Amino acid sequence: MKWSFKLITLFGIPVKVHITFLLLLIFVAVVPSGFIGGFTGLNAVGVVLLIFTCVLIHEFSHSLVARHYKVPVRDITLLPIGGVAQMDEVPDKPRQEIIISLAGPLASFALAILFYFMGKDEAGIAYRPGNIWMLLFQINAMLGLFNMLPAFPLDGGRALRAALALKMTWLRATRAAVAIGQLFAMFLFFAGFYVNWWLSLIAIFIYLGAESEERASETKAALSSVTVSQAMLTSWEQVTPQETIEEVLSKITHSLQWDFPVMDGDRLVGILPKDAIFGALREKPASTPVSEIMVRTFYCASEENSLDELFVKMSQTHVTLVPVMKGTELRGLINPEQLGRFQVLRSAEMETKAAVNWSKVWEYRGKEKGEK
Ligand SMILES: [Zn+2]
Repeated sequence: MKWSFKLITLFGIPVKVHITFLLLLIFVAVVPSGFIGGFTGLNAVGVVLLIFTCVLIHEFSHSLVARHYKVPVRDITLLPIGGVAQMDEVPDKPRQEIIISLAGPLASFALAILFYFMGKDEAGIAYRPGNIWMLLFQINAMLGLFNMLPAFPLDGGRALRAALALKMTWLRATRAAVAIGQLFAMFLFFAGFYVNWWLSLIAIFIYLGAESEERASETKAALSSVTVSQAMLTSWEQVTPQETIEEVLSKITHSLQWDFPVMDGDRLVGILPKDAIFGALREKPASTPVSEIMVRTFYCASEENSLDELFVKMSQTHVTLVPVMKGTELRGLINPEQLGRFQVLRSAEMETKAAVNWSKVWEYRGKEKGEK
């Protein structure tokens, strides 16, 4: 996530903090009336840090259970509205996703019970302003309860999707869980007018989060069980190391590509991604040759690689061009535009009943060299 930096690595998982989180700390330190539970100044900062330690425990519960099921966890990011554990993939088995999703709220409930008994002993009564344990009890109980709402992308929504996926396809389960989550978000949004505007704000996050989850699962469904050769671009523009930035710009203008393979005769010697071209435009003269700005170390795919794995790799590394190789021969290209086009076709396959022999459509029937 942009504007976040690494704080510490725990259990092999990097913990990042978003810059707005630091702004929150400064904010609570200077608010004179006490931001939370009647605490002010450095005490308020301490309270916020304690709260976020609880959030961190919640996120680590998800992450460590995920790792137990061999689902890689990229990092945990702390934001003012809570924490996010980034996982690179969704577990294959719905049962595992249910357990991973419930692990966080369960940890919050366990903390709530712990703090309840700590606070009760100290104060003798249920709640008194300034009783830090009772404040933490309330916050953890709320964190657990709120996350259990069956609204995507909250934990309850994920558990709901996984439970539905036991009975139907993963994509249908996602669509159903997203619809339920968005209905919940609309309800929360209006409820916020009467309760607290903060609730309305969170409702907007839930609504948008649900939408992006739906889009991601549609992409995943469209690209799964397809090989790279079935979706690759097989007619393309290319550049030579001697061509200049100016000539490349002309190719961008008059083709459908932003990124080009760099060919020295029959040999692929580099790639020229969009970023490299536009980066060079700011710093170098238009007569600069491609050889000076091309990328020489790059990732290649082979024809039988699976497309959804390549998609995940491309979105994680922000690579915009992947040459598809057979030995030293360039057979095709995969770029984000091509993935988008293929996704539209694949959705058509899933939704039409027309008598189209799709396996023949996906099969690349080959083309003699030189034929364009
Ligand atoms: Zn959670």
